[in-house]
Amino acid sequence: MTYQSGRQFLQIPGPTNIPERVLRAIAAPVLDHRGPEFARLASEVLARIKPIFKTTRPVLIFPASGTGAWESALVNTLSSGDKVLGFDSGQFALLWTSMARKLGLEVQTLATDWRRAPDPAVIEAALAEDRDKKIKAVMLVHNETANGCMSRVAEIRQAMDRVGHPALLMVDTISSLGCADFRMDEWGVDVAIGGSQKGMMLPTGLAFCGVSEKAVAASKNAKLPRSYWDWEAFLGGNFPYTPACNLFFGLKEALNLIDAEGLENIFARHARHAEATRRAIRGWGLDVVCAEPKDYSQSITAAFMPEGHSADAFRKLVLERFNMPLGGGLGRLTDKAFRIGHLGDTNDLMLGGALFGVEMGLAAAKIPHRAGGVQEAISYLAEQSGQPARMAAA
Ligand code: PLP
Repeated sequence: MTYQSGRQFLQIPGPTNIPERVLRAIAAPVLDHRGPEFARLASEVLARIKPIFKTTRPVLIFPASGTGAWESALVNTLSSGDKVLGFDSGQFALLWTSMARKLGLEVQTLATDWRRAPDPAVIEAALAEDRDKKIKAVMLVHNETANGCMSRVAEIRQAMDRVGHPALLMVDTISSLGCADFRMDEWGVDVAIGGSQKGMMLPTGLAFCGVSEKAVAASKNAKLPRSYWDWEAFLGGNFPYTPACNLFFGLKEALNLIDAEGLENIFARHARHAEATRRAIRGWGLDVVCAEPKDYSQSITAAFMPEGHSADAFRKLVLERFNMPLGGGLGRLTDKAFRIGHLGDTNDLMLGGALFGVEMGLAAAKIPHRAGGVQEAISYLAEQSGQPARMAAA
């Protein structure tokens, strides 16, 4: 057996660090999922998750990873041959379009250079061209975890409204939920898709679907085959198969922590950490992958490796020497970029440790860079007001 002393720094863009209190809550004895105690727990968390999505609509919870919620959104609202608008704007947006094709949907894809989020004006033009209103849904990823670009959902909704397009707006919040502002009702989002293992500070295993009235109406006529993902029983307040009960205990505790810190304070913390990370990256003389300041992600930041240097070899060295996994480049960014996750249960010192590890790794791997990125982050974090204290009731 080998032993690496000290804690591993988990700085990937999810799954994220789980607070001790959440881990302890999950470690409760298993209960009868058909008994009164689970019914009380479920009704509490189903009510308390709504403010995280900023919705008054039902949020359905499946035992699944986030990919299940993607599928659930599509199969409940669409029929074979329906046209959808998707994006080649990053690996996750692209994977979702590939799922849509496998399910028998016709996908129109709008591409970016993977260094910015989809442009609301381009979406508006595509929808304006769709005079016969053949496009039934827009499949938008709020925070593209693969490149650190965040979509401006409110502007996209306004663009859809300007051209009076009736398509459903589906938004993947898997790496933004609990990290960045998301307003399902105000932004007219029809299906809001989430997962437990990132900003929600839980293990993987809960997939969320917030559903608008319009999405529920669409589900009455949608013809794609569906069984496991069918919304009907969930909308009736039932769990048609065994729910992930212990994760519900964890979710309740995570919601306690979120309430104690305050959702808006959490967003401010994520924004501060994202800015500190970008300053560090520029301090090292590297480029941030997201090229558009208005598209900067609050939860993850990707950095390009200098030409001729392997990002994956760098990540391997950082893992082996310093016990810190970093996110790899995905899809067309494979080996070209690495990603720093700064989402979920993090604080200034944890981020500082991660940036220290990256700077040490750049030196150890003899990657051309300037020293001092960490100092840039320290100066920025020090001049910002402190993080509000977390005061969850015991
Ligand atoms: N969408 C986004 C934006 C993601 O970041 C991920 C995973 O990281 C997924 C979808 C897929 O979710 P999961 O791996 O939970 O199935």
